[in-house]
Amino acid sequence: LLGIERLSKSFAGQPVLREVSLAVPEGRVTAIIGSSGSGKSTLLRCVNTLEDYEAGTIRLRGERLGYAGEGRTRRRLGDRRLSAQRGRIGMVFQGYNLFPHLTARQNIMLGLRRVGGQGRAEAAEAAAGWLARVGLAERAEHYPYQLSGGQQQRVAIARAFALRPELVLLDEVTSALDPELVGEVLAVIRALAGAGMTMMVVSHELAFVRDVADEVAFMHQGRIVEIGPPAELLQRPATPELAAFIARFR
Ligand code: ATP
Ligand code: MG
Repeated sequence: LLGIERLSKSFAGQPVLREVSLAVPEGRVTAIIGSSGSGKSTLLRCVNTLEDYEAGTIRLRGERLGYAGEGRTRRRLGDRRLSAQRGRIGMVFQGYNLFPHLTARQNIMLGLRRVGGQGRAEAAEAAAGWLARVGLAERAEHYPYQLSGGQQQRVAIARAFALRPELVLLDEVTSALDPELVGEVLAVIRALAGAGMTMMVVSHELAFVRDVADEVAFMHQGRIVEIGPPAELLQRPATPELAAFIARFR
């Protein structure tokens, strides 16, 4: 579904992604792990066309994202094309990013109406369905401040998936939560994975990664240094960098 080839990016001359190549198959969960600063969020932001990069290509179902042309004729796409491409990709971050003045239901409906072009009734029905799916049917009329962090994050996840993106990017969606709230959010992601949604997930929850990911990529200093099925990768790391990373969670 998604193909990243030799993606390189730097910030002010400092390389942050170095020739990253990765294929994300449809209906699968690809997890990205790695220590702070290894480039995980930057990689997701490049996929979502939020970030410029110097070299490499990213394709979604064969369509090149972000740029047209090669070499000296390579140029950033215009805003219209970029926002059409962004509409095909959902993203959920660590902070919940809900609109504080809208209820859970309205938060989900907003995108369905503005981006999805749905009418009020249709959007309300879809929002109710998604709230039920993340276990929040009873909280539809609550405002973000009336919801726990875990509940807010579940609304944010429902909002992203409600737009039926082809691919959803999740960047450390549980890392701002109190430990007792992490499980409920991971359970929602696990259920969506089971339903065949395609996701790229950055997570430090290695037990969850082992459980849910079809493939894990370990990033170190802007490179994917190991990639493979989670059981193999996490059980038998091939590099001292991954072994050291895993050891920190023991
Ligand atoms: P974390 O686990 O802490 O979220 P990460 O793997 O997501 O880390 P990135 O946020 O992708 O790491 O950052 C990779 C590197 O790029 C870091 O060295 C960071 O300081 C740098 N960086 C990220 N965003 C910017 C920016 N807007 N301007 C300059 N440098 C940046
Ligand atoms: Mg990050």
